Amino acid sequence: MSQKYVYLFSEGNRDMKNLLGGKGANLAEMTNAGMPVPQGFTVTTEACTRYYDDGRRIAPEIQDEIFAYMGKIEEITGKQFGDKQNPLLVSVRSGARASMPGMMDTILNLGLNDEVVEGLAAKTGNPRFAYDSYRRFIQMFSDVVMEQPKTEYEKIIDEMKEQRGVTLDTELNADDLKELVREFKARYKQNQGADFPADPKTQLIEAVRAVFRSWDNPRANTYRRMNEIPYDWGTAVNVQSMVFGNGGDTSGTGVAFTRNPATGEKALFGEYLINAQGEDVVAGIRTPSPISHLKDQMPEVYAQFVDIAGKLENHYKDMQDMEFTIEDGKLYMLQTRSGKRTAAAALKVAVDLVDEGMISEKEAVLRVEPKQLDSLLHPQFDPEALKKAPVIGKGLAASPGAAAGQVVFTAEDAAAWHAQGKKVILVRLETSPEDIEGMVVAQGILTARGGMTSHAAVVARGMGTCCVSGLGEMVVDYEGKKFTIGNVVKKEGDFISLDGSTGNVYGEAVATTEAGISGDFDRLMKWADAARQLEVYANADNPKDAKQGSDFGSEGIGLCRTEHMFFEADRIKAMREMIVATDVEARKKALARILPYQQGDFEGIFEVMGERPVVIRFLDPPLHEFLPTNEDDIKEIAGDLGMSVETLKQVIESLHEFNPMMGHRGVRLSVSYPEIAEMQTTAVIKAALAVSKKTGKPITPQIMIPLVGEVKEFLFVKKVVVATADALIKEAGSDMKYEVGTMIEIPRAALTADEIAAQADFFSFGTNDLTQMTFGFSRDDAGKFLDYYYQSKIYESDPFAHIDVKGVGKLVDMACKLGRAANPKLHLGICGEHGGDPTSVEFCHNTGLDYVSCSPFRVPIARLAAAQAAIKNPR
Ligand code: PEP
Ligand code: MG
Repeated sequence: MSQKYVYLFSEGNRDMKNLLGGKGANLAEMTNAGMPVPQGFTVTTEACTRYYDDGRRIAPEIQDEIFAYMGKIEEITGKQFGDKQNPLLVSVRSGARASMPGMMDTILNLGLNDEVVEGLAAKTGNPRFAYDSYRRFIQMFSDVVMEQPKTEYEKIIDEMKEQRGVTLDTELNADDLKELVREFKARYKQNQGADFPADPKTQLIEAVRAVFRSWDNPRANTYRRMNEIPYDWGTAVNVQSMVFGNGGDTSGTGVAFTRNPATGEKALFGEYLINAQGEDVVAGIRTPSPISHLKDQMPEVYAQFVDIAGKLENHYKDMQDMEFTIEDGKLYMLQTRSGKRTAAAALKVAVDLVDEGMISEKEAVLRVEPKQLDSLLHPQFDPEALKKAPVIGKGLAASPGAAAGQVVFTAEDAAAWHAQGKKVILVRLETSPEDIEGMVVAQGILTARGGMTSHAAVVARGMGTCCVSGLGEMVVDYEGKKFTIGNVVKKEGDFISLDGSTGNVYGEAVATTEAGISGDFDRLMKWADAARQLEVYANADNPKDAKQGSDFGSEGIGLCRTEHMFFEADRIKAMREMIVATDVEARKKALARILPYQQGDFEGIFEVMGERPVVIRFLDPPLHEFLPTNEDDIKEIAGDLGMSVETLKQVIESLHEFNPMMGHRGVRLSVSYPEIAEMQTTAVIKAALAVSKKTGKPITPQIMIPLVGEVKEFLFVKKVVVATADALIKEAGSDMKYEVGTMIEIPRAALTADEIAAQADFFSFGTNDLTQMTFGFSRDDAGKFLDYYYQSKIYESDPFAHIDVKGVGKLVDMACKLGRAANPKLHLGICGEHGGDPTSVEFCHNTGLDYVSCSPFRVPIARLAAAQAAIKNPR
């Protein structure tokens, strides 16, 4: 039998997401549960991948299958596609496996032409409705299928409204809309060089093709990369018989959540518009009414909707986001899905569902997306500063958080200013998917139009970005690059602040304070900690970061980058003297000045961490970052070293490297200058002895040698460490233990991991360097060309952000196996940036590492990701 590419809603179920997409699978599930769903069919994600495999064409047999299923829908509905008396109209909507809100396109009212519209007008006795549907269809088809500029059509409507002296679309009458249709078709022909397609079958296939094509549009690609959705998943297409919310005052359309998606509060939350169709609610053209008003306006419909919403939440055991249409007093469900929610709402819903006995603690842990926690871990407004700040307006609290920055009015400007290191607030009348690049980089988003389910609100919540929407009093002047609220005018570049939890807009940059973990967050993290098998450490270079990591639950320090201790002005001088020293004596003198700084910082870190493990990495500076460049510094250092300025300049010149990343760094420094290892060992051991004596608690410092590629290199430095440490410990009359391990960040180290492990106490995978060395592209330069690789689908995500499981992952896996076989006690961890990336953490769990280490702010994210990995795949 040939492959089946099309399924009726009644043929699917919720477990067929991969094939039918989320929307298709849930429409099938609702159909099977006997809910009022307008019937239709789903063209599978496999048809989408086939479309691309076949060179972007829909194979004739798939087209035939689509038409055959159209026939089945005709039978079910008793209407005919393209028929003048009793026409079947359909919507065509995308629906991928993972929901990508607003990322792809929708076409409504498909099947209309000049004759069918007359039939519809006659059948319904409502020509206004028929022509309203027709003009919407032409508008959407021109935009989505033919990619003509949307604004041209909007302008035609605006001109018409002006001529008729009305402000709302709903005030245009049937004749006005008929006239609009004529003008739209003329514009279509002018843009396209061909008539608007009258044949419904052509319309249908073109629309399906447009949805497939939209899978590869730039905004979908950006969204996928941000959310790690693989390109080869493809999207399904749902063709559903139309029900109409725009037929008059007993019809309408809306969107609702079973709980509040901003706070998680358990109460039906949503909006609807009377006499409107699908996109009107989210597009923000008219301001919708809260769902609770429906209770007064249409009590029976409301009661039925409340009943269905409750059933859906119980069925999916999660907060649902539903779309509905009321056609002449009858309710229809168009979609249900797990609702996108803020981090605070995600935590509250997960914890509440446990308390309500709906899900287990482990299920709750799986319900919160680790990345989302980020928004809770970042600063909030300082309450004192907030009290004093001037409120210049209040919109809807669409996505919580605190944002301060400079006003910009376009997504392009947001991206450009961000690239210059500026913090921006993107101010728009409303946002649309084209604005995504600007929304991603903005601190916050402010819109004049649109409710809580508008594009701006939904997308911002998904990204964890602060958003205030629907500030109706705000007049935005794009051309003049300014906005006005009452008598306050703010121009491009002016500072404002947004409070996404209250909707307040402030006329200046308001100071912020640190975030903390408490309440629901704390409860969920405790469940996560009980479930996870990986330990989570923090990367911290000073006592303050160590404390921050500790507050966020780190169980140790996995990486203390000692070169970072020297960026401050008074310290960098000693470091520079050490680097440019031309003989051992001069170097030892500089090192002796460095030693107390190091020891002091180590003591601070040991004090914060107590008995918890602390891994201190020996110097790994790209030397050029520390060299003096300005004339005054050079003169001063030359003087201190008793060197002529000329000689110092020559030394600096001689230290120039063509490729510093592969230059004189890491272990190579200690091989060249063993006195560096000697000084650092002294600082670590003396600090540990001092703190241990002070606190009475044992400390086992761990010394880590970076960038090793050959066991003899490691042994060379280890010998210096052991000789120095043993002497100091003996001298102190102590029995303190210490460990010496290495980073695995050069492919050769992974390849010879058995030899190295026989001599090392631990391995820590430095996947920043390991990625750079494995791919052979520099971590500092790759950003310049990786975009081309994303566009060409050679790489789908940044290998420095998400571990490359196939290549780098294979080296990690191999090194673990070789290492453990040679040294069963070997402790294994990761300290590259990947240690705080949820998908990479899952890889670390599956590969059998003992711990992950990441920046302090990512510790809770790593804890949750580790728990999810353990629940999904216990080891
Ligand atoms: C690494 O390479 O992954 C690492 C942690 O070291 P650094 O980033 O300091 O090179
Ligand atoms: Mg490194």
